[in-house]
Amino acid sequence: MDIKGATLKSAILVSAVALSVAGCGSDPYPGGTGDEAAGVKIQRDAKGNPRDNGGARRLNKDQAEAIADSLQRSGAKNVILLIGDGTSDQEYTIARNYQWGAGGIIPGVDELPLTGSYTTYSLDKDTGKPNYTTDSAASGTALATGTKTANKSISVDLGGRPQRTIIEIAKANGLATGNVTTAPLQDATPAVQVSHVSNRKCEGPKKTSEKCPQDAVENGGRGSITEQLLQTRPDVTLGGGWKYFQETAAGGKYRGLTLEAQAKERGFHIVHSAAELMSVRRADQDEPLLGVFDNGTLPRLWGKEKAVQGGANEPPVKCSPNKKFTDQTPVLGDMTRKAIDLLSQPKRGFFLQVESASIDKAAHSADPCGQIGETVQLSDATTVALEYAKKHKDTLVIVTGDHAQSSQIVGTGVDTSGLTKNLMTADGVPMTVNYGTALKGEDQQHSGVQVRIAAYGPGAANVVGLTDQTDTFFLITDTLGLDRKKK
Ligand code: MG
Ligand code: ZN
Repeated sequence: MDIKGATLKSAILVSAVALSVAGCGSDPYPGGTGDEAAGVKIQRDAKGNPRDNGGARRLNKDQAEAIADSLQRSGAKNVILLIGDGTSDQEYTIARNYQWGAGGIIPGVDELPLTGSYTTYSLDKDTGKPNYTTDSAASGTALATGTKTANKSISVDLGGRPQRTIIEIAKANGLATGNVTTAPLQDATPAVQVSHVSNRKCEGPKKTSEKCPQDAVENGGRGSITEQLLQTRPDVTLGGGWKYFQETAAGGKYRGLTLEAQAKERGFHIVHSAAELMSVRRADQDEPLLGVFDNGTLPRLWGKEKAVQGGANEPPVKCSPNKKFTDQTPVLGDMTRKAIDLLSQPKRGFFLQVESASIDKAAHSADPCGQIGETVQLSDATTVALEYAKKHKDTLVIVTGDHAQSSQIVGTGVDTSGLTKNLMTADGVPMTVNYGTALKGEDQQHSGVQVRIAAYGPGAANVVGLTDQTDTFFLITDTLGLDRKKK
């Protein structure tokens, strides 16, 4: 079914039908030359009956021209980096099977022409040797700074020295910058772009005094993640975590003021709802945009369906919308579109990071529906980014995960020793999803497998094959032609 003309929001409601296009009917980015115009569109979904010879094939023609379209260019003016937290091949396959069917595609994500894998290991704090299962702090630091570090570290190296981030470097080089997430803004993935603390828990002044005293403002440090976010001052910052803005600065110029008051004094334009966000017309260094849509993490698009012991023996279920996801909350695709609109206005180039955070958070709690719904959000955000890049060919789009998670597709109805859930997929077939990386009764843990990275646009060739996630930092800053030392 083609759903051209539908709004993005309605396009991502829970549906058993295959969605072939999740974009908008009207062209939000007029003026460029689209891929379709260049005649290089590859339809990647299977068209035939999988029982027939060739029925499951995905390519409808030779893809050399489409790949050449990405290879022929180097040097980008804009980079959009999309991150699915805890999103690797197993999370993509689960979402594809459920929402679009085994022969379908994940819109946006599966349309990126060039794909590789990267290693994500972090470092042991004491020995400096590889720690095979990274957390989002160390993996985010690797992506944002090019430096491997220990778990829990936010853009500091093993010795605690601050490492410059893509947003800091892009800003110093005159680019517009944005940081968008469905997590609290203080969560590791957005935090690594705008702050440097020894412990990811130092979100606000209170915990910083306790856990990162050397970083606390009252001790002459740079402050909590929230205080550093205000200091780093990207043009556009969208996410959750409003509760930390209610804490009070314990030292420095803004001592005694809440961080909300500090943000206002520093000239931030603060919005709290999807409608307010949509009405914003500019965001720059005079009046940076701070959109905070929840006290903590933004609600997930889809409701919970938790995997349980013996779940493989239960009838398959369909996922349903999350009732807590109201009109107040912007969907990730709309946040991405608004951020691109605002950052592209000055026409001096931009770097934008977009995170779908709760793929990871849902996987931690063995909730396949929560996880798939947030993968659909990642797909929608990627579709928005790709639409822009196809019209503005000086734009590099990268989509990746920061590390792998725990979910696996196991044999249908196989009652493993882990937690299982049966879902009825878009193919009309039950799929058993297994979670088996938790200590008994505790949250699921990350896994250490290499992670997919895919890209479109100038510089995209450099994601092909095996890289390390630190390569992504150098790819982005080199492709943008940034001077990494410029202050
Ligand atoms: Mg994250
Ligand atoms: Zn996690």
